[in-house]
Amino acid sequence: MQSLWSPSADITPARSGIEDRLAEMITIPTISAHRAELGVGPFEQFLDLLAQQYPLIHQHLERERIGELGMVFTWSPAGPSAAAPVVLMAHFDVVPVAGQEDEWTVPPFEGRIADGVVWGRGALDDKGSLVTLLDAVENLLTDGWAPPREVLLCLGGDEETHGRAARLIADTLKDRGVRPSFVLDEGGAVTTLPFPGLSGWFAMIGLAEKGVMAVRLSTTGAGGHASAPSGLTAVGRIARAVARLNHNPFRLRMPRTVRQLFSRLADYADQPYAGIYRAAASAPAVTSRLLPLLGAEGEVMVRTSLAATMISGGSAANVLPSEASAVLNLRVNVGESCDQVITRLRTVIDDPEVTIDIIEADEPTPESAVDNAAWRQLAAAVAAAYPGVEAVPYLTTAATDGRHWHRFTPNVYRFSPLAMDAEQRASIHAADERVSVDALVRGERFYRALLLGL
Ligand SMILES: [Zn+2]
Repeated sequence: MQSLWSPSADITPARSGIEDRLAEMITIPTISAHRAELGVGPFEQFLDLLAQQYPLIHQHLERERIGELGMVFTWSPAGPSAAAPVVLMAHFDVVPVAGQEDEWTVPPFEGRIADGVVWGRGALDDKGSLVTLLDAVENLLTDGWAPPREVLLCLGGDEETHGRAARLIADTLKDRGVRPSFVLDEGGAVTTLPFPGLSGWFAMIGLAEKGVMAVRLSTTGAGGHASAPSGLTAVGRIARAVARLNHNPFRLRMPRTVRQLFSRLADYADQPYAGIYRAAASAPAVTSRLLPLLGAEGEVMVRTSLAATMISGGSAANVLPSEASAVLNLRVNVGESCDQVITRLRTVIDDPEVTIDIIEADEPTPESAVDNAAWRQLAAAVAAAYPGVEAVPYLTTAATDGRHWHRFTPNVYRFSPLAMDAEQRASIHAADERVSVDALVRGERFYRALLLGL
C-alpha cells in the first residue's frame, strides 16, 4: 500500500477510534437504490448506530426527522445570536456494488481496517465525510464548547438516487425563515490534480455544479420488409442524430469559477504551464489552447457534455423498424440553461422527424463567491487540518444535495475534508473505495477548526 498523504506536519487525533466508527457505519448497507427491497431497516439501523456513537450530540442537539430519510440536528448558540446559521451537510446512503463484487480486494460491507486504511463502500462517499463532521461536533461538546451562532447538521439518506430528503430539508428550513450564511456539502476534496505542470495536493472547494439533463430522441418509421427499404430507417435516423451530436460538441465557455481556479493554479504551476493557465484565466478566448492540456476531467469544466447512454429500436433482423429511440445524458455548463441545450440539440440534429423529450432537467447552479467570510473560514480550516495545502475554487461536475440550497442562499460550498489520490478518487462509486485513517483525523480537525472559527 502506497502512502496516501504526506503531511508537512503531524496531526494528533482529538479522540481515538474514528476509523472504528467509520468501519461500523460501513457494515450497514444503506443502499438507497435498493430501498424498495431493503425497506427502511438499514437506514433506521444506521441512525440508531449514530445515537450510540454520538451520545453528546443526541443529548445536546435538537433532533428532527424531516421526511422519511432526512435528519436535522440543531445546535443552538451559547448565547443570543442574530448571526445567520451555518448548514453542514452529509449523506449516509451509498451506491450499490452490483456486478463489481469480484473487483473488490476486501468485501465492500465488511468495514475492514488494514495498514492505516478503512476499506468499504461509503468510505469516501459520504460516510467518511459524515464521521469527521460528527466526531468534530462530539469532541467540541466534550470540551463544553457551544457555537457562537446556530449550526444545523443536515443528513440525508437518499442523495445517490437524487432523492427527496435534502430538498425537503432545504424547503422546510426555508419555510421557517432559515437563511444560512453558508452551506457546506460534499463535492470537492483534498487531492492531487490531473493537470500538467502541477504537483502536490490542493483543497478543491466546489463553488458551483453543472446541471443534469436526460433527454430522449425518438422517431417512427413506416415498417415493412427489410428487403425494400426506402431511405433512412428509424434506426438510421436516430443513429444519424447521435452522430451529428457527437461531431458537434457544445461550445467552449469558461465559467468564472474555472477562471478563478486557473488563476490560482498558475501561482503553483511550472512554466510554461503557469503562463498558459494565467493567460486562459485572464482571456477566456484562450480556453481552446488550454483544452488539450486538461484531459477529459478538465474539459467537462468548460463545456456542456453529452453522452448517448441508451439506444433501442427494431424487433427483428429482417424487419424495418417502426420506431427507434436514444437517451442522452447531458451535464449543462454553468452559465447555460436547459432551454439553450434543447435549442442546440434541435439545431444540430436538424431533422424534424426526430422528437426530443425531456426526461429530467436540473439547471446548473449559480457560482458562490470567494471574497467573503465563508470562503476565508473554509480556507483557514483547510490550513489547520492540512498545513501547506491551498484552498482552490473548483467546479463540481457531478450533482450533489447542496444544489437545493442555491435557490435561497448565495453561499453554497462543496468539499469533503478528506485527502484522496487519483486512484482513490476513481474508487468512488467503483471497487475498492477506501480512505486513510490520517485523512479521517485531518477531516475531524477541519470541521473542528471551521466551527471554532465561526
Ligand atoms: Zn455522495
